Amino acid sequence: MDYCDFRDLVTCSGENTTAVLIRELNRFLDQAAKPKPPVIWFEANACSGDSISLFNAAGPGLEQILSSIIDLRYSNALMAAEGPAAIEELAAAATANAGVFVLVVEGAIPVAARGRYGIVSWRGPMGTAGDAVTVASIVEWLGSLAGSVVAVGTCATHGGPSAARPNPSGSLGTSAALGRRDVINVTGCPAHPDWTMATLAHLLMYGPPGLDRWGRPTLIYGDTVHRHCQRRSYFDRGEFATGPGRRECMFEAGCVGPVTHSDCPYRQWNSYVNWPVKASTPCIGCTTPEFPDGSTPFFAPLPVKRPGSPPGGHKEGIRV
Ligand code: SF4
Repeated sequence: MDYCDFRDLVTCSGENTTAVLIRELNRFLDQAAKPKPPVIWFEANACSGDSISLFNAAGPGLEQILSSIIDLRYSNALMAAEGPAAIEELAAAATANAGVFVLVVEGAIPVAARGRYGIVSWRGPMGTAGDAVTVASIVEWLGSLAGSVVAVGTCATHGGPSAARPNPSGSLGTSAALGRRDVINVTGCPAHPDWTMATLAHLLMYGPPGLDRWGRPTLIYGDTVHRHCQRRSYFDRGEFATGPGRRECMFEAGCVGPVTHSDCPYRQWNSYVNWPVKASTPCIGCTTPEFPDGSTPFFAPLPVKRPGSPPGGHKEGIRV
């Protein structure tokens, strides 16, 4: 698949994108005689929503994702092992694939109180024993060994709900916790399965994707929700819904589509059938780096929830 076809598939295909990507990745790995890439999926402070979202991908199914295109060497959510056996598995996977494996981080990294809001074990993969092995120390250790790092979900990218005010655990996104700018951020609460698969496919087939200033692939996050929204004509005519459940533009009901970057209006969710505005509720901006604090109160218009927003908040001053 040449790059233009890949880009078109990701940005304007009506097909089951994840299924096509898996097929193309299989073909690519066969032709290049490359082994499946080792992946360590480490869940930090999270609700497992991004794993569940990926496993709910339409068409390919979990088994096909795991068996045909990646060599999943570790996943807190899926593995049978627990306790010391799981930590040994993690250590073996990381050291055996050092410099090569893709580290996928799901969830935020708590760093307050020396990381003790997230204790994984009392015996670490780094050979230490007798002290708390924290999420922060494991992610730092894995990050130092990984070939590339992908943060999946807004908790992993920028802290997300885990870092919402008052954030006593001092939770951070992966890039901030590791102090490095080359982390690929797949935002979303949760991330759409196509976003995760397209990012992994890009990384494996063409190298790291182009990123915006928030570290997000521009293929996915290049435009605002507002730009492609099916209710945009109502916005342009100044016809606004007074609350959820109505058919007009949701701006005055709290929609943050004008400042949220994602392809939800044409990607759609739950096997490509719906997305929030189509279901007559406002976009709450789950892909924004400041989510959720920057989106609350959810059902107040932008000028109220973000005092710096343009006065009046309608067409004037909103970049679309
Ligand atoms: S404000 Fe929200 S509902 Fe209205 S057009 Fe923009 S994205 Fe769509």
